[in-house]
Amino acid sequence: MELKNSEYQIQGVPVTEIANEFQTPLYVYDADKIINQISTLRNAFNGVNLRIKYAMKSLSNLSILKLVKEHGVDLDCVSIQEVLLGIQAGFPKERILFTPNSVSFEEIQEAVELGVVINIDNIAILEQFGDVYQDTVPCAIRINPHITAGGNAKIQVGHIGSKFGISIFQMSHVKKVVESHNINVVGLHMHSGSDILDSEVFLMAANVMFDCAKDFPNLQFIDLGSGFKVAYKEEDIVTNIPELGKKMSKAFQEFCASYGRDLELWFEPGKYLVSESGHLLTKVNVLKHSPAAVFVGVDSGLNHLIRPMMYDAYHHIKNVSNPEGPKRVYDVVGYICETDTFGYDRKLNEVRVGDLLSIENAGAYSYSMSSNYNSRLRPAEVLVFNGVPHLIRQRETLEDLTRGQVDIFSSIPVKTEEASLD
Ligand SMILES: *Cc1c(COP(=O)(O)O)cnc(C)c1O
Repeated sequence: MELKNSEYQIQGVPVTEIANEFQTPLYVYDADKIINQISTLRNAFNGVNLRIKYAMKSLSNLSILKLVKEHGVDLDCVSIQEVLLGIQAGFPKERILFTPNSVSFEEIQEAVELGVVINIDNIAILEQFGDVYQDTVPCAIRINPHITAGGNAKIQVGHIGSKFGISIFQMSHVKKVVESHNINVVGLHMHSGSDILDSEVFLMAANVMFDCAKDFPNLQFIDLGSGFKVAYKEEDIVTNIPELGKKMSKAFQEFCASYGRDLELWFEPGKYLVSESGHLLTKVNVLKHSPAAVFVGVDSGLNHLIRPMMYDAYHHIKNVSNPEGPKRVYDVVGYICETDTFGYDRKLNEVRVGDLLSIENAGAYSYSMSSNYNSRLRPAEVLVFNGVPHLIRQRETLEDLTRGQVDIFSSIPVKTEEASLD
C-alpha cells in the first residue's frame, strides 16, 4: 500500500475504492508483493537447487495457492485437508510436502495414497511406517535440532521442550529403526519456529542437519523449514535474505560436495511470502472517550485477526481516509465482547466516524485463523492482480453460521409428556 497524490493505493487502485466496491471488513492482498517476495528469496540463492514450499497454513485461499504455484512455488501442508486443497489448486502431488504433527497413522496412510511427500515427526510413527511400507514409499524425517529461536514462546518450535520433530539426540535410535525396517529416507527436515532473525541461527541449524545427513545415503533434499522475519513495525529488523542466501548457498554447496551428490535445498516460508501482502480494511463505527484513552471502535475484531490478542503481535494501523490529518493517539478496538484491542496508544492521522482504517501485515495467520466467535461473519477476501481487485472469497452470510447444524427439535418435542402436563 503506497501513499500517492495524498491517497493510499494498491497497484494504483485507491484503497477507498476497493472498500467501497467490496465493503468492510475486508481482507485485501497485493499479488505483486507476494510475487516480489518469491523472487527476492529465489534470487538470494546461487548455485543451489532451491525449492520453495509455501506453508499454506498462513493463507490458504485457492487463488493464492494458484498464484504461488504459477510462480514455481511448491506446497507445505500440515493437515490432510491442506493436502486435498493443494491438489484442488492443481499442485502435482510430488510438489506437495505433508508435515503433520500428532496425527494418526491413518492420516499418514491417506497422504501416502494421495502420493505426496511425507515428513515423519516421531519414532513411533516411523516404526509403523516401516512396518507397512518398508522401502516402497519414500519419506522424510523431521528433526528437532534444539535451537532456540523465534519471536514468541508460542511459535518457538525447535527448542528442547518442543513437541515437534525427533530429537537430534535420538538419531542413533532413528538409524536403527530405519535400517531394521529398510525405510527409504529421502529428506531431512527441520523447522525451528517463526520469526528467526539471524542468518547465523539458520546456518547453525543447517550445520546440525548436514551432520545428520551423513547417516542417510539416499537423501534427495534437505528442508530447513522457515522462520524468516518480516517487518511489522517500520523500524523492525528483518531477516537479511540476500545475506542468508549467499551464506547458505556456500554452506550447502560445501555440504553437497562432501555428501557426494547435489541435493535440493528446501525452505517453507509462510509469513515471508504473504504477511506484507495483506491488509485488513475496517470502518470506524464509533469514537469513545474514556478517562484513559480515546477508543476507536471498528467493524472487525479478534474473530477476524487474533494475532494481537493471541501473540501480543504488533500490527501497524493506518487511517486510509485521512492520510494527512494531524496525528492523535488512540486505542483501536474491535466489536467482540471481550478485550479485543488491535493496537494501544497508536498515533493515527485524526480519526473520524466512518473513516477507513487498514491493519497491516494481515496476509499471514490472519484470515486463516479467523472464526465466527460472537456469531460474527467472516470478511470477504480480495486479491489485487495486474491492477484489478478481484473477489476471491465471498463475505459470509447468516446461512454459513447454521450450515451443518442439526436442529433436533424440529422433529422431537423439547418437553417430555410428563413435563408438558402442567
Ligand atoms: C508454520 C510452518 C512453517 C511456516 O512458518 P512461517 O513463520 O510462517 O514462515 C513452515 N514449516 C512448518 C512445518 C510449519 O509448521
